[in-house]
Amino acid sequence: LYNLNTKWLGQKIYHHHQIDSTNKEAKKLAAAGEKEGTIVISEEQLAGRGRLGRTWVSPPQTGIWMSVILRPPISPADASKITLIAGLAVCEGIQAVTGLPAQIKWPNDIVLHNKKICGILTEMSAEMEKVNYIILGIGINVNINSFPEDIKNTATSLKIEGEKDYDRKEIVKAILTNLEKYYEAYLNKQDLEDLLEKYKRHCLTLGKEVKIIHRNEEFIGKAVDLSEEGELVVEKQDGQVVTVFSGEVSVRGL
Ligand code: ADP
Repeated sequence: LYNLNTKWLGQKIYHHHQIDSTNKEAKKLAAAGEKEGTIVISEEQLAGRGRLGRTWVSPPQTGIWMSVILRPPISPADASKITLIAGLAVCEGIQAVTGLPAQIKWPNDIVLHNKKICGILTEMSAEMEKVNYIILGIGINVNINSFPEDIKNTATSLKIEGEKDYDRKEIVKAILTNLEKYYEAYLNKQDLEDLLEKYKRHCLTLGKEVKIIHRNEEFIGKAVDLSEEGELVVEKQDGQVVTVFSGEVSVRGL
């Protein structure tokens, strides 16, 4: 169906017409021992999820709603890097197929002209300081014509931006090809500088004023760099430089 040229990623794909959440289904499969590389895709999600229990709008036949099961031999502290790798793979995949100037909003969104076209939701299960599995959820607005009132100013689709329909299968294929390549490079510690460079090149957040919200604290600063660990380096207004770990903040462009 997808004519994939990957070695192991997506060799097994569960297709659903309708499902509550692909992440939830993938989690169930992973907990039951499903192998790394297996993917759950649904034409529609009835209860698609974002971070912190937020809703992800997932109408039928117009998006890519998929979750990948990964079992990287890494510690839980490194799991957020998988989100960054996925962001890079998705961003470049979308660019390659559509020619549209997709960018990464650190850490987990892909945007076009500052509006969200894709959200990435990674969920992890770990035991004894080792990752057992990671569910990598990727939601992409492909041929969606319009959005609900509450997100219509912040969300967009490839169709709205490119003014045409796109082949969802082609986009899935491009993303999985990239994802397998970058994931393997990361695990083999190959070309890590190159990966970071690529991420930075696509990252919209760098050089921008950002508002960091962490627990009940909030501060404004300038995102000046991305550390080797994938943290955002922020220069506060008083000149103090802090690194922000992806798991603990919300970043808003001002
Ligand atoms: P945040 O970007 O605030 O971290 P999440 O990544 O958790 O948010 O994504 C959930 C949020 O994204 C929702 O609260 C909603 O505002 C927005 N949203 C929901 N569905 C979509 C969609 N299909 N496209 C773009 N944005 C969406």
